[in-house]
Amino acid sequence: MNMPSLPAQAETNCVACNTTHFSGEAVCNFCGYPLKGTEQEQRSRLARRARYAVGLEEKMKRIKQSTYILYGVAALAALYGIMQYASTNEQERVWVLIINLGLSATYIGLGFLSRNKPRAALIIGFSVFILINLLNLLTEPTTLTRGLMIKVVIALALVKGMKAVIEAQKIRKEFNIE
Ligand SMILES: [Zn+2]
Repeated sequence: MNMPSLPAQAETNCVACNTTHFSGEAVCNFCGYPLKGTEQEQRSRLARRARYAVGLEEKMKRIKQSTYILYGVAALAALYGIMQYASTNEQERVWVLIINLGLSATYIGLGFLSRNKPRAALIIGFSVFILINLLNLLTEPTTLTRGLMIKVVIALALVKGMKAVIEAQKIRKEFNIE
């Protein structure tokens, strides 16, 4: 019997991302590591990967920080509702209290959601925040300047968080980092 000899298809693990490959592939198609590259190319890819892994850590920290803003909005809404309720006897102030407590509960819920789904929580949190401020502006134009600084800080922090989520996803995908 004369079997044609097949080229060896040994399995190897990618040094960078540990995905299993058949020997023969030049570049890891999961993380871009040059499996058949020169030592120099391999070393520089590993260094690049390490740099981006550090960047990823920083972005994860920033995402975490911006999710705390969600709890901050919850606290502010509750505080504002209670203060409005306490400071006047008008009947409609009850509604201000109810709406603000509802808002507070929503943001607490978003804070919990952000543990598993930070992107969704931040996008919803940002959208609701902008919507509330627009509605306030339409119904009571004088509210725009009230606490404007803190509103800007909240909006920017949420935007920063969303940006970090997108950047983190990009790094994870490019280097196949879990
Ligand atoms: Zn790899």
